[in-house]
Amino acid sequence: MSTTSIRKTPLLEVRDLTVTYAGGAQAVRGVNLQVEAGRKLGIAGESGCGKSTLALALLRLLPAGTKVTGEILLNGEDVLAMKWGQVRAVRWAGASIVFQGAMHSLNAVHRIGDQIAEPILLHKKVTPAAARKRAGELLEQVGLPAARTDAYPHELSGGQRQRVMIAMALACDPGLIIADEPTTALDVMIQAQILRLIEQLVSEQDLGLIMISHDLAVLSDTCDRLAVMYAGRVVEEGPASEVYEGAHHPYSRALSGAFPRIGDLSSRFAPQGLPGDPPDPSALPAGCTFHPRCALALDSCATQDQELRDAGPGRQAACVLVGPEGAAAAPVLPGAEEARSTS
Ligand code: ADP
Ligand code: MG
Repeated sequence: MSTTSIRKTPLLEVRDLTVTYAGGAQAVRGVNLQVEAGRKLGIAGESGCGKSTLALALLRLLPAGTKVTGEILLNGEDVLAMKWGQVRAVRWAGASIVFQGAMHSLNAVHRIGDQIAEPILLHKKVTPAAARKRAGELLEQVGLPAARTDAYPHELSGGQRQRVMIAMALACDPGLIIADEPTTALDVMIQAQILRLIEQLVSEQDLGLIMISHDLAVLSDTCDRLAVMYAGRVVEEGPASEVYEGAHHPYSRALSGAFPRIGDLSSRFAPQGLPGDPPDPSALPAGCTFHPRCALALDSCATQDQELRDAGPGRQAACVLVGPEGAAAAPVLPGAEEARSTS
């Protein structure tokens, strides 16, 4: 099936997802997302914006006492409504996660072949010998010799360990891979190799991918679409290259490091750098949660919350300055008058 054909049920559809930790932190607030098989969605945002919380929620991996509402439809079935037996079946076999620190996720005292074989034995009716053989094949898929099944984690480099994590994620043939900052702990050359590997495997096997990173450039290289998160919300969403090169939301623009381009009115509003930090999710500011850091904030932004709104074909952004009414409301920055009068 080609990746452009129309599929009725998306691989993953997240509807109005909210996550509140036991202490009251509203880490995810009303997130809607969709991923089709063979498609790659990037989720960007600074540290603390709720990206990992969202990833963990998808497979119900959050600590007990965390309140999760909304719907997480994996192949049309709501993960939040599943019994535990079903949830366990979905983990690994429906969707699997590649975490950031491979060393922390691997068990130091077990051979990596056994660690890859473990979920296979748990989820598939195969003999231990067949599971070990499959572990070797998976290692080869991620570019390591099958004989490395006998190695212990400390005998591998950081990049090789991350390859093992990817092999584990693929072990039970999931439809969706969630990669949470899979290369952040690696050096730049290895980062590129790992990203290419994930991209290649996902494309070859027609899998869906959610790739999480604080780095918009990495995501725009790897993904079809991008969602930018701020304070637990998606504040912008659209085709990856368009969001990266022409972000509408002042926050996404700051993340993409956009600087003014001659003749481009919107880029004149680009904030130069971004002071401060995302808000504490237990004490969110009123109005638009980004307004205290926004160079373009209007008086109304301190009191009026902003929902995602249409921002061009296939694009959405949650900013009062977006769309036809937004342009009219935009503040006129020094030097922008002539650009506005000619637009
Ligand atoms: P990101 O992955 O974007 O860096 P996280 O999802 O890890 O963000 O965190 C989002 C917010 O939730 C942060 O403010 C963080 O402190 C808070 N948080 C994360 N895990 C917990 C937890 N187990 N209990 C309470 N708050 C948490
Ligand atoms: Mg994180």
